[in-house]
Amino acid sequence: KRNVLIIGAGGVAQVVAHKCAQNNDVLGDLHIASRTVAKCQAILDSVHEKGAMKQPGVFKAHALDAMDSAAVAQLIRDTGARIVINVGSPFVNMTVLQACIDTGAAYMDTAIHEDPAKICETPPWYGNYEWKRREACEKAGVTAILGIGFDPGVVNAYARLAADDYMDTVTSIDIVDINAGSHGRWFSTNFDPEINFREFTGTVYSWQNGAWQTNTMFEVGREWDLPVVGKQKAYMTGHDEVHSLAANYPDADVRFWMGFGDHYINVFTVLKNLGLLSEQPVKTAEGLEVIPLKVVKAVLPDPSSLAPDYVGKTCIGDLVKGIKDGKEVEVFIYNVADHKDAYNEVGSQGISYTAGVPPVAAAMLIANGTWDIGTMVNVEELDPKPFLTLLDQIGLPTRVKDAAGDRPWNA
Ligand code: NDP
Repeated sequence: KRNVLIIGAGGVAQVVAHKCAQNNDVLGDLHIASRTVAKCQAILDSVHEKGAMKQPGVFKAHALDAMDSAAVAQLIRDTGARIVINVGSPFVNMTVLQACIDTGAAYMDTAIHEDPAKICETPPWYGNYEWKRREACEKAGVTAILGIGFDPGVVNAYARLAADDYMDTVTSIDIVDINAGSHGRWFSTNFDPEINFREFTGTVYSWQNGAWQTNTMFEVGREWDLPVVGKQKAYMTGHDEVHSLAANYPDADVRFWMGFGDHYINVFTVLKNLGLLSEQPVKTAEGLEVIPLKVVKAVLPDPSSLAPDYVGKTCIGDLVKGIKDGKEVEVFIYNVADHKDAYNEVGSQGISYTAGVPPVAAAMLIANGTWDIGTMVNVEELDPKPFLTLLDQIGLPTRVKDAAGDRPWNA
């Protein structure tokens, strides 16, 4: 199974494109499609500037409205793509998945489907859209790997590795995401502000004591002491992977923590309390109808413009606790990525890098048959070892820290 169609031409797609080019000997013909074809072309230009193509081959740009499932299916047929990496906005997931079911191509995404009209879904989030199509995938023999960025994605594989190799039973999974980098701007989100703020305006769901628990954003915080980035404050946040890990490890507590500085929290709180994060239109005295969130987005820096000046590191990992031979054990499985290194290699900041490399590793595993499972899965349902081995080789090495020390995961 070969030939890849990338959907979307944003920050993550830039990384996916470079990494696919670097591995086109395994992946075959490459195509990238988005609403704005000029953005696809700019990505292709940067791929060629860096000389990223491993061997001479096809890499073409296409204009596509991914909300139109029939158009996506047609493009899959026209390009002969057998693997679709969907890194468009999360609003297009279901139409792209349907196109894959209709054409038999493998499907991947890096975020849960979102309905633009709903601010927060009820848990488990995958149950509202994705899992309803599992049977259809199985019938069509379509491989669909959900949420295969870094978080969700690699962190799900880390949880599975901990459960398989480090303990007999898992009692808790805490995923911690720290960006200790600095973009040098007074305030900016690292991704599309609309998507970024949506993540923090809804209810914070966690799975504890065998049930869904609810909190508000920034209500529960604690300090973590992590490798490389040191002591950092992180807050319990709702996140995709909590919803699949809770289903696959129902006896364990599953929580997600994201690091925020006081400055981010202050700005966010002011914007939210003023009503500037609202998606409901308001009328100005002049009769102009505006959506506050769209105005905020328009005045904030374009996240992709941050990459050249971004310095520092990210540390994302899973602290997994459990029981081994009757004793309590814990392991922290993690990756450290560097913003500047990412920019030098693929022209993106480190967070896009950590999200964009994993789906390419998965595409390579589908292409060589290892992960071409012909059904719909979340990442923790797959054998993590071939995936982590490949990630070591293509830019996202995994380390473990436990009572025996801090070392590469497979040392
Ligand atoms: P961007 O906002 O930078 O890019 C989104 C792209 O999607 C744009 O190029 C946009 O098109 C395209 N798009 C939106 N609607 C359509 C449509 N109807 N048809 C075709 N293309 C469309 O996002 P990012 O690159 O930052 O993120 C991409 C995805 O990755 C998101 O789903 C995000 O949530 C996820 N993500 C996952 C992470 C993880 O670790 N799991 C981490 C970071 C992000 P255009 O510009 O051409 O109009």
